[in-house]
Amino acid sequence: MPVRGAAGRLRPSQEKGDEIEILTFAGGPFVQNTILVACDDGRTGLLVDPGAATPAALAAARDRKLDIAALLVTHAHVDHVDGVALAKAETSAPIHLHPLDRPIYDNVSEWATFFGVPCEQPPPPDADLVPGVNVAFGESEFEVVFAPGHAPGHVMFVSTSEPVAIVGDVIFRGSIGRTDLPSANYGVLMESIRSQVLTLPSETVLYPGHGPETTVGLERGTNPFLLHLNGGRGA
Ligand SMILES: [Zn+2]
Ligand SMILES: [Zn+2]
Repeated sequence: MPVRGAAGRLRPSQEKGDEIEILTFAGGPFVQNTILVACDDGRTGLLVDPGAATPAALAAARDRKLDIAALLVTHAHVDHVDGVALAKAETSAPIHLHPLDRPIYDNVSEWATFFGVPCEQPPPPDADLVPGVNVAFGESEFEVVFAPGHAPGHVMFVSTSEPVAIVGDVIFRGSIGRTDLPSANYGVLMESIRSQVLTLPSETVLYPGHGPETTVGLERGTNPFLLHLNGGRGA
C-alpha cells in the first residue's frame, strides 16, 4: 500500500492540495522504496529509484492520470534501478543519473548476479544530474544535492518549496547507508550526512530508499550512528 507522506506546509500563495505528494511503494528482497512524486500541478509525476515495486508505482500513476516526466535515480545499486527498464518502456521518460554512478549502472546485471536477484540491464541514462543544479517538473523543483559515501555518485533530491527530501540510501530511520560495498566509504558518507542532511531544517521529512520516512530532527536526536557528531549527546 502506498504511504501518504507528510508533504509539508503550504506556501502562503497556495491553495489546499496545491503541493507535492510523495507515495512510497516497497518491494523486492531488499524491501526497496520506489517513490512516486505527484508534482504541484497535479498532472506531472516523477519516479525516483524505480525498483521492484515499479509496476505498483506505475499503476498508481495511471490511476491518478499522472504523466511521468522523469526517472530520477539517487544511485545505481541494483535494488534502485531494477525497474528502470520497465519504467522506461512504459513511459519513455528520460533517465537522470549522476555520472559517478555510471560504472555501477553499466554493470548492474553483474551486481544482480552477485546478489542473486533478477535485473534487466536498464537503457543508458538520458541526462546527467548536476549537484547544485535544480531540476524542475510540473511547477515543482528539486535541488540535486551531492551526498556520496554509500555510492560514489549518490545524490538526494531536496524540494525547494517544501520541507521534503528524497535521500536514497544516505540515511534511514535509526540507521545509515551501508559502506561495506565496493566503492563505498564510511568517512565520506558521514561527512555527507553531517554537511548535507543534518544542515536541513529539523522539520524536513526524509524519504529513504528503505524503511519508513523520518525527519531531520528525529535523526539528529536519536540516530545511534550519528551520536558522535553531537559530541555523544542527542541534540
Ligand atoms: Zn544502495
Ligand atoms: Zn538500497
